[in-house]
Amino acid sequence: MGKGYTLTGMQSGTDYSTQKGTWYGANELLNINTTKQFDLRKLSKNQCNLWRYEHFLPVPITEAVTLGEGFTPLLPVSLFNTSIHIKQEQLFPTGSYKDRGASVLMSVARQQGITHVVQDSSGNAGCAIAAYAAKAGIKADIYVPASTSPAKLAQMRMYGADLMLVEGSREDTANAAWKAAQHTYYASHCYNPYFFEGTKTFAYEVCEQLNWTAPDVLVLPAGNGTLVIGCYIGFKHLYESGVISKMPKMVAVQSSNCAPLYEAWKNNDTTPARVISLPTVAEGIAIAEPVRGSQMIEIINETKGAFVTVTDEETISALIRCCNMGYYIEPTSAATIAGIQKALQLFEGGTWVSLFSGHGLKSTEKMLKLLQEH
Ligand SMILES: *Cc1c(COP(=O)(O)O)cnc(C)c1O
Repeated sequence: MGKGYTLTGMQSGTDYSTQKGTWYGANELLNINTTKQFDLRKLSKNQCNLWRYEHFLPVPITEAVTLGEGFTPLLPVSLFNTSIHIKQEQLFPTGSYKDRGASVLMSVARQQGITHVVQDSSGNAGCAIAAYAAKAGIKADIYVPASTSPAKLAQMRMYGADLMLVEGSREDTANAAWKAAQHTYYASHCYNPYFFEGTKTFAYEVCEQLNWTAPDVLVLPAGNGTLVIGCYIGFKHLYESGVISKMPKMVAVQSSNCAPLYEAWKNNDTTPARVISLPTVAEGIAIAEPVRGSQMIEIINETKGAFVTVTDEETISALIRCCNMGYYIEPTSAATIAGIQKALQLFEGGTWVSLFSGHGLKSTEKMLKLLQEH
């Protein structure tokens, strides 16, 4: 860990910085904290990607594992009679913003001498880890539910990852990966704190693109929380460094068919509610047991934001609206956009930021099905 950075939540007496195997999530979730100030003079301005913020990563990276990811456009889009800044996160090399986390995590892993990782994902996180493992020359075993969409399985396989198909629920897949992670490096987008050090660059970019100001409201998807937590880390860093004078209100969107965080938050609970997960077109955010759920609820409360839910009908309507404006996004991404309408009922005015989280080309089968039905 670099100067000014500390790892919290670890078991005392273990040197996690040098241990090469499974070192996080043993009992507690690990988090990275910093006392290092964000400093505008320390940007790598010749890098037109997320590596322009490399100075603010917890480990100095000598050779990044990069496919040129980041610094995606922030475009004004007219939605629900409002102009919203939408970050074009569908434009990443693997088709989703998960590349932020994967590039930073795999850069740290390679530097630590890791040659083999395991990961579990129902889709985009698996694709991102598979791609950056390929770039890094690291072997990747990806555990996926047997029901994962063929297009995403093909993408992971083409990168050269070994796929472990697990019958049963998403939780069964997580359990199988957990077992494998007892002896192999766990490149997890939920447990591994370096993943969030990648997704935090979303906040730095938004802030720079808004001329070093914070948005008033930020509307984000909420499944496992890679972006909710990453954005919070990034904006909090900018706030504590005096770059911005307020934290954005964070609004987190869940599918009404699987909303453990919304249900808990609504009842003033601090841990995710037990829910029965129903099928949804927003499968990417349908996480019934988010391991960092309590952390997300805390963040939404601290920023005086809200959780909102959207139905499949609202999601599909948002999807068609976006595609008809020229933005080809995957159905899960449209849930966040539908959530903007809900958020507009709760908060008014100011600068709003949201995102397109994944590319439509990932979901051709689903699009064909939609076209048959509409
Ligand atoms: C991962 C992902 C999300 C949601 O992210 P969580 O980390 O589960 O909160 C939303 N949209 C797309 C396209 C994703 O890949």
